[in-house]
Amino acid sequence: MDRDRCLALDADDPLREFRAEFVLPEGVVYLVGNSLGALPRHTAERVRRTVEDEWGEQLVGGWNHAGWYEQPLTAGDRLAPLIGAGPGQVVVGNTTSIAVYQAVAAALRLRPERRVIVSDLRNFPTDHYMVQGLARLLGGYEVRDFAEGRFDDAAVVLLSEVDYRTAARHDVPSVTAAVQAAGALMVWDVCHSVGAMEVDVSGADFAVGCTYKYLCGGPGAPAFLYVNPRHHATAENVLSGWHGHAEPFAFEAGYRPAEGIRRFVVSTPHVLSLAGLEAALDVWERVPMDLVRAKSMALTSLFIDLVGDALELASPRDAAARGSQVSYRHPDGYPVMRALIDRGVHGDFRAPDLLRFGFAPLYIGYADVHDAAATLLEVLDKELWRDKKYAQRLAVT
Ligand SMILES: *Cc1c(COP(=O)(O)O)cnc(C)c1O
Repeated sequence: MDRDRCLALDADDPLREFRAEFVLPEGVVYLVGNSLGALPRHTAERVRRTVEDEWGEQLVGGWNHAGWYEQPLTAGDRLAPLIGAGPGQVVVGNTTSIAVYQAVAAALRLRPERRVIVSDLRNFPTDHYMVQGLARLLGGYEVRDFAEGRFDDAAVVLLSEVDYRTAARHDVPSVTAAVQAAGALMVWDVCHSVGAMEVDVSGADFAVGCTYKYLCGGPGAPAFLYVNPRHHATAENVLSGWHGHAEPFAFEAGYRPAEGIRRFVVSTPHVLSLAGLEAALDVWERVPMDLVRAKSMALTSLFIDLVGDALELASPRDAAARGSQVSYRHPDGYPVMRALIDRGVHGDFRAPDLLRFGFAPLYIGYADVHDAAATLLEVLDKELWRDKKYAQRLAVT
């Protein structure tokens, strides 16, 4: 596929108008939307409003009059359609790691007779670091790898819908059904799928995810936690902070959980970070997710075709079994990626040998894919990555 054909596809793209909603530097093909999404054009104004008009003018009154206090729930309601959930089922706040802890701990409390936590040991490490810490704190729990294929005695199974390394995708409905049929509770992490495809966790018991990857909420934007309504009356938030209390401003000595999803709020919301997320949600509310998924599959497939066998593919070849990312293995992956970034193509590197390229369909087009593949092939053909300046590791890869 040549560049002119790619430009024609961009001109016909039903999502093409969304590109103008994002700020991207000139001369950069940004394929790291799976790590930190690009900046929505009106985020700066939305954050400025919160800082100057709300904080600056209303001061502490902002908690009542600018909606800050309710924001974990109101932002959760706005986000819910992106994961197949309804109003009153999602809270926004904290980080994914904390939401994992809340979800897994709540699941264990709902299955007190079972002592096994199943987690995918190839998942993004923070998820099972949190599980390991929780298991150590509680004592007497086994943490078992999902790859062992046994969850008949499990209290809870924690998995990522899309693998952060390879972009391999689980079939959420069938895994959820199998786990629940075995009497375990299902917790999905959708960090690498939300905003890149139609996600539906409504059959699961809990789900968690972050908002700074495909959702473009901004660096450090808060995470979310979905709790199936069938657990609202019985699930416990072990991080029993004051904003999950039935009456936070009664300042009682004892903890009494709020009704509904509010009990999963921990404490003071991150108002400035939430302003960034709200700006991104203003965009997402207008996005047809079926078109996002279709374009995502087309972009990743095109990249795989163009790169051909120049590199060892680490992602599934079948687009339906893949997220919105393409990964390759190369023993010198780190300097290869540095050489690419130096030439305006931004992907990232994950130890020990993975090159990752994330394709965010709202702001990446077919010509971008063409240019990225051409630059990658040039870096490999001419061995441009062998320059010594690319060997030095930076703190964040
Ligand atoms: C990105 C990501 C996280 C991030 O966790 P934080 O607590 O927000 O730093 C966690 N889990 C998975 C699967 C991720 O992809």
